[in-house]
Amino acid sequence: MTTSYHIAVLPGDGIGVEVMRAAEHVLRAVQARVGLTLALDYQLAGAQHYLDSGVALPEPTLKTCDQAHAILFGAMGLPHVRGKDGTEIIPQLDLRFHFDLYAGVRPIRTFRGLPTPLSNPKAAEIDMVLVRESTEGLFYARGRGDVRGDPSAPSEVYDTMQITRKGTTRICEFAFKLAQRRAAAKGRPGRVTSVDKANVFASMAFWRTLFEDIASRFPGVQADSVYIDAMALNLVMKPWSYDVMVTENMFGDILSDLIAALVGGMGMAPSGDIGDRHGLFQPAHGTAPDIVGQGKANPTAMILSAAMMLDWLAERHADARLSDAATLIDQAVQSVFAQGQIRPFEMGGSHGTASIVDAVVAALNSPA
Ligand code: ATP
Repeated sequence: MTTSYHIAVLPGDGIGVEVMRAAEHVLRAVQARVGLTLALDYQLAGAQHYLDSGVALPEPTLKTCDQAHAILFGAMGLPHVRGKDGTEIIPQLDLRFHFDLYAGVRPIRTFRGLPTPLSNPKAAEIDMVLVRESTEGLFYARGRGDVRGDPSAPSEVYDTMQITRKGTTRICEFAFKLAQRRAAAKGRPGRVTSVDKANVFASMAFWRTLFEDIASRFPGVQADSVYIDAMALNLVMKPWSYDVMVTENMFGDILSDLIAALVGGMGMAPSGDIGDRHGLFQPAHGTAPDIVGQGKANPTAMILSAAMMLDWLAERHADARLSDAATLIDQAVQSVFAQGQIRPFEMGGSHGTASIVDAVVAALNSPA
């Protein structure tokens, strides 16, 4: 068994740096509890690094990420740092394509002791995972925009959605296997809901055919398909009724923010970008330039992303210390909020990055 795990750490820009510092405190505390060594290897990348050096994602960083056991990522991108086509410098998208991180996994659940914007008491039961296809869909168009007419005053611009048999098959299989694992862990049947717009677009009708074909191979898991517009409504009206959802890249991008809002804000939403060989773990939020440097960032999403990383490593390396560490972090976060004394700024509270991380580390250090 490996004695030390090599983690490529990319804090990035804005609050990415602040929440990564918080996650490091938590990882150091948990290592001691379970007898693990995580070698945190800090790497340069991001929009600020692009301004400083002309490169957003340097080769040595890519090489380190490739060789590491896992990648821990803060947030990247700054509104004023843009490429020639007017789009932001967003190296996380390049990393997804470079390492073929096709499954964007975004778990969401309500936390006892924290408010949600929903008044229905069933909101306490929200516990779902959005699986976002991350290498094709409408994001295929990135860098390929077809600008027609005079480039300084175009008459038409086209972006193309790509749905392939290979890409859709592997993401749907990923979603069904995840639903099977969740069903086994929770002792109840699993369900996968596919989100599409098959009534309008040929690409989405193709997606639905492939989804239904894969569903037939997982008879133990319930399967259904919902149009994206209906899903936007359902996720506000009855989010507690969903288990695993799977969708194309752009729909997934939008729905991830919607579901984060259901449980209090972006600072509560962890995520993993997972491929067959690599796993990158990052909070679902961006660099939040509006609150940077104020100590107001909620580090929970970053801390829970680090716990997801440990869980993913545990499965790959059959190392129970890693899953124990993930569980300890999860329990510490839950207990901190359940006591009702800590409320992040984004939920109208007065607790910032430092007080939340201090409380989580204290919970980790206190005997069970
Ligand atoms: P991206 O496109 O890179 O995902 P974005 O433009 O969607 O980024 P975010 O940076 O995620 O935007 O910020 C959206 C809003 O959520 C902002 O008002 C920001 O302050 C808030 N926010 C994001 N993350 C956090 C956090 N960890 N704690 C508190 N507030 C946050």
